[in-house]
Amino acid sequence: MAHLNSLAQPSAAALLAWYDRHRRDLPWREHSGACADPYRIWLSEIMLQQTTVAAAKPYFRAFTQRWPTVADLAAAPLDDILAAWAGLGYYARARNLHACARTVAADHGGRFPDTEEDLRALPGIGPYTAAAIAAIAFGRPAAAVDGNVERVIARLFAIDDPLPKAKAAIRDATAAMVPSERPGDFAQAMMDLGATICTPKRPACTLCPWLGSCQGEAAGVAERLPVKPAKAERPVRRAIAFWAQHEDGRILLARRPEHGLLGGMAALWATPLTADTAPNVALDFAPIEAEWRRLPGEIEHVFTHFRLRLFVFATRGTTAAAPLGSRWATEQELEKAGLPTVMRKAVAHVRERQEGRPVRRRRRIRNG
Ligand code: SF4
Repeated sequence: MAHLNSLAQPSAAALLAWYDRHRRDLPWREHSGACADPYRIWLSEIMLQQTTVAAAKPYFRAFTQRWPTVADLAAAPLDDILAAWAGLGYYARARNLHACARTVAADHGGRFPDTEEDLRALPGIGPYTAAAIAAIAFGRPAAAVDGNVERVIARLFAIDDPLPKAKAAIRDATAAMVPSERPGDFAQAMMDLGATICTPKRPACTLCPWLGSCQGEAAGVAERLPVKPAKAERPVRRAIAFWAQHEDGRILLARRPEHGLLGGMAALWATPLTADTAPNVALDFAPIEAEWRRLPGEIEHVFTHFRLRLFVFATRGTTAAAPLGSRWATEQELEKAGLPTVMRKAVAHVRERQEGRPVRRRRRIRNG
C-alpha cells in the first residue's frame, strides 16, 4: 500500500491512454477522438438510465433502425414508442423521449442544442445527460457525473462524506479533471472505468490506470466508498389484474391512464397499482360480470418506490362487451401491444396456471 503523500496526481492523459486500449465497443460509440451523433448519444443515455448496457443494446438497435433520426422519432405516434420501449421499464422515459424529440424537431430545427444549459431545458434531460451529450457529441468540457463516476472519484480522492452530501465535492473534483482536449472520450473513459475496473465490489485496482494516484486504494478503503445512506425498506402494495377471455378467444386489453405509473401503456385490466388492494375485494373492481377465478400464486414485481404483490383473477368464455377504456384483442394483438414487464409476468402467470377455484358471481361493472 503506497503512502498517501507519495501518490502521483491522477491525470486525464493516463485515463485516456487506458481508454484507447480498453474502450468498450458500444453501438452508439464513434471511434476515439470523434464526436458522435447527438441523437444516438441522447437515445443511449436515456436508455441507460436505470438499465444495464446489455439490456439497452437491442433496444438501441431497434430504435435507430426504425427511427434513424430525431425527426423520425418526433413524427412517430407515442403508442408506437411506448410499445417499442416495453420491457425496458421506467416508462416516463419513453414519454419524455417523445416529448424531447418533438421539441428538438419543432423548436430547434431538428438539431440538438450544443450547450449543457440548452440541453437541460429539454424534456427528460437532467444535469448528467446534458453534460454527457455536450461532452460526447459536441466536444464541450462538461463534467458528466453518474453513479459510476461518483464511485471512481469518491475512491480516487477518498471522499468519505456520505451521499448525497458528497455530491458537490465529487462534482467539483470531476470538473477539475476534465481535459480541454477529448472531453467526450474522457467522459466515456470514466464510464468504462467505473463499469469494468472500478466496480462496486472488488475493484480490479491492479488493472487501473490510476492505481498509483488513488487515495482510496492507498488507504485501503476503496471498496467502502462512496458511503451510501441506508436504504429505506420499500413498502409493499397489493393489486389485482384481471384476465378475461372472450368465447371467441380474444383477451380483454386495457390502456393505463395517461399519467402516473405505466401511463398510457397497454395492460391487463387492474386495480390501481399504487393503492393497496386486498384480493378479497377484487371483484369490486372486475371489469365485466363473469365467473371469476383466482389463480393460485402471485407475482412479485419491484418498482422504484414499492414492491408489488399482484394477484390474478381469470374468466373464460364471456360474451360481454369490453368496458370503456379497454377492447377485446387477439393473441397476436396482445403479443404486439408492448405490455410492460409486470403485465407480461401476469400473462405468463395465467398461461402457467389457468385453472383455479371458482368464486362468486358479481354484477358490478367498472371502468376505472
Ligand atoms: S485504483 Fe482501484 S479504487 Fe482507485 S480508481 Fe482505480 S479501480 Fe478505483
